[in-house]
Amino acid sequence: MDFSYSPRLAQLRESAVDLTRRIAVYEDECEADNGLSPQSRAALRRTVLASGLQAMNAPVEWGGAGLSWIEQVTVEEQLGTLTNGLWAAVWRPTAAALIASTPEQRERYLIPENRGERFGARAVTEPDAGSDPRRIATVAERSPDGYRITGEKWFVTLGDLADYLIVLAVVQPDGAPTMFLVDKDAPGVRLVDTPHYTHNFAYEHPHFAFDGVEVGHDAVLGAVGDGLALVQATFFEERVLVAAHAVGAAERALRLASDWARERVQGGKPIIKHQLIQAMLADSATDIAVNRMLVYRTAWEIDRGGDPKTLNAKVAMAKVSATEAAGRVVDRAVQIFGGRGYMRNNPVERLYRDVRVDRIWMGTSEVQRLMIANEIDKRGLPGLLHFPTASGPGGAAEPSGTNDTDKTNETLVEGAVR
Ligand SMILES: Cc1cc2nc3c(=O)[nH]c(=O)nc-3n(C[C@H](O)[C@H](O)[C@H](O)COP(=O)(O)OP(=O)(O)OC[C@H]3O[C@@H](n4cnc5c(N)ncnc54)[C@H](O)[C@@H]3O)c2cc1C
Repeated sequence: MDFSYSPRLAQLRESAVDLTRRIAVYEDECEADNGLSPQSRAALRRTVLASGLQAMNAPVEWGGAGLSWIEQVTVEEQLGTLTNGLWAAVWRPTAAALIASTPEQRERYLIPENRGERFGARAVTEPDAGSDPRRIATVAERSPDGYRITGEKWFVTLGDLADYLIVLAVVQPDGAPTMFLVDKDAPGVRLVDTPHYTHNFAYEHPHFAFDGVEVGHDAVLGAVGDGLALVQATFFEERVLVAAHAVGAAERALRLASDWARERVQGGKPIIKHQLIQAMLADSATDIAVNRMLVYRTAWEIDRGGDPKTLNAKVAMAKVSATEAAGRVVDRAVQIFGGRGYMRNNPVERLYRDVRVDRIWMGTSEVQRLMIANEIDKRGLPGLLHFPTASGPGGAAEPSGTNDTDKTNETLVEGAVR
């Protein structure tokens, strides 16, 4: 085993630190204005392009950075130190588009996106379909030239920036969940609302309605009926990233809190000398160290390959563990700052609001636990707990025993992951 950074990873990490420093100058603007001006967006785009870290998940020949998972996690951890969701400024195409686009769709959407000329946003959630996307009511009725899409989508992150949406709809009369590439300026795409959220994020999460939007056959991403598998593939990727962000956010909060604890004198000594403060610092350092190991190990295993279902459960473990730990660490950091920790000009206060959503989006903590339990039920513990050996996957799976997992959860937690 070797837990050191290779020269390549160390260099990537340095590039990510540098890029993060350049993006951090927009934090105050983002907090004050709940977003970025068009000028700032344009400047950020140039900064990201100059770093070469745009579209990290896309192959180099398609204009991406072509990074492995361990490399992406190394970069994303740094980006996670940014407040106000500014990590989102380092754009990447959705996994669904990456996996399933045809050469024509690639030319039209993916390659321009990788160059930062077009942006997409994922539109899956609906008023009555969140954790369970099979409940979606958006339909795509077959029409002479393709499909007519009708429905409503909520919480579309980057929906303000995007010029196309990846929309999950049920093809009728087949009843087949399918993803569609829909241009945002297509007739019938309507912005319904731009709600405010707990965080002041770099971009918006608007709600959209689709009033009989006509799209061609060439708008189908993958095949008719592939929609849920593509949603799973997208979540798989996003969960790894959010886990990496959580580690970075937690470390920034702890760094600021420990510096403050050294500086702040109360009760006749710096507060870092008070044992109750020490306990909070020690617990936070432990939370970060444990989760950094888990997130990097998970990324390393994805690069290495393995049973996709077990990897899916491992990613769930990393997501639930790292995001819940970040919540604890940032909460302690606020406490260590006292009243100053509750002020919005303090990055710790902003991280406190920022990291809360990580336990909700891309699959809630409860859904992640269902996925982990499902893996234990079906394939046993070794795949989750043991290190793989160099010659093959982790120890042989235990007999799975009776498999009475209810079908609802089964569909929710499994499916294609890559
Ligand atoms: C800021 C933000 C940005 C988002 N961005 C996007 C986006 O870009 N695209 C998109 O499509 N969606 C997006 N979402 C939606 C997000 O993915 C959903 O909010 C999330 O999946 C949860 O769905 P829900 O809110 O409907 O909650 P629900 O599914 O209604 O869940 C409510 C509660 O019930 C629990 N629960 C649900 N099912 C079970 C179960 N089977 N067992 C036990 N507990 C259960 C949940 O864990 C939760 O605690 C975003 C959400 C937010 C807040």
